[in-house]
Amino acid sequence: MLKNQRAKVIIRCNVCGETFTLRGRREPGGEVETGFKQCLCDNEQFFLIQEF
Ligand SMILES: [Zn+2]
Repeated sequence: MLKNQRAKVIIRCNVCGETFTLRGRREPGGEVETGFKQCLCDNEQFFLIQEF
């Protein structure tokens, strides 16, 4: 099994429309950990996340 596989994600804020391109680390469960916490507009919950 691959460990610490790198992944790229685009995070789009559903509140203000800002997009962030981040590199993350794929966790064993398949989720990507980017360390992203919140948008510039203080939104912490409503995001559209796409991996590519
Ligand atoms: Zn925002």
